[in-house]
Amino acid sequence: MSWRATLPIRLPRRPTGCEDEPPRNGRFFERRQAKGIMNVSDLPAFSLTGKRILVTGANTGIGQGIAASIARAGGQVVGVGRSAMNETAEKVAAASGSFEAVRIDLSDPAEAAAMLDRVWDESGPLDGLVNNAGIIRRADAVDLSEADWDAVMDVNLKTVFRLSQGFARRVLAEPGRRGKIVNIASVLSFQGGIRVASYTASKHGVLGLTRLLACEWAAKGVNVNGIAPGYIETNNTEALRADPERSAAILARIPAGRWGRPEDIGDAAVFLLAPASDYMHGAVMPVDGGWLAR
Ligand code: NAP
Repeated sequence: MSWRATLPIRLPRRPTGCEDEPPRNGRFFERRQAKGIMNVSDLPAFSLTGKRILVTGANTGIGQGIAASIARAGGQVVGVGRSAMNETAEKVAAASGSFEAVRIDLSDPAEAAAMLDRVWDESGPLDGLVNNAGIIRRADAVDLSEADWDAVMDVNLKTVFRLSQGFARRVLAEPGRRGKIVNIASVLSFQGGIRVASYTASKHGVLGLTRLLACEWAAKGVNVNGIAPGYIETNNTEALRADPERSAAILARIPAGRWGRPEDIGDAAVFLLAPASDYMHGAVMPVDGGWLAR
């Protein structure tokens, strides 16, 4: 069937939650939305209807963008983090989604794994896990402290492993159950960077771990993939954006000519959580405005 034949399906208009945001797919998509014609997430292959997804670091930045995108695709969000998530809850509600907040510090990998078990037992099974929470510590490599090395490794890599392990154990224990894991890596999973030794090491680790877990679990019903964001406007890049020279140099190198926004990553995450990506395993997709292509 040609795409032309599939498009004229008319569905009742569902709130997108992004009415106050600028149109991201041009006037064609905007006009179709206004007419009440289907959203991309109304296509079954891109829908998360009925899916329950745990997102770490959901209070702000990319995690918040992912939570809002999941809700727009019809999914339910379990937001996990150490800070209040009211703003994210509001964004999810605006997209007619459901949001459950779980407060926990993810710097202790064992506690993180226990939290996932609690969520599963007390509020129901999960269909997806987005390992998004992460930290960065900047210092010249000669000055980086052991504490800054360990702190970054614990949150960015060890907790990612323990949560993924816990999630897969629960999925694999139930015959017929399927699950999807999306790890938020970085362009520094592929490049060296500067003054971020522990961060770069952790994100290279996320890339390797994503591939290894995919190899072990692909045939067992668990997809493991990742997203490598480029330079996104969040707290993580506040220091870079505040430095006029670094900020201008970064912008000049991004082929798309702009910094990324959390929803750029959110919509890519929906794809990796939805049936459309069922045959994808061990891929880490750059969503970077073309940064790595340069
Ligand atoms: P962000 O705004 O700083 O968000 C980081 C999130 O992780 C926050 O929700 C933060 O919670 C949470 N977090 C950190 N440590 C935690 C802990 N110990 N326990 C619980 N939650 C914790 O930065 P972001 O840019 O959205 O980062 C999200 C992910 O994208 C990270 O993995 C980051 O490495 C990755 N990434 C970002 C960029 C970029 O350009 N922004 C590029 C590549 C990759 P609090 O707010 O409470 O600290």
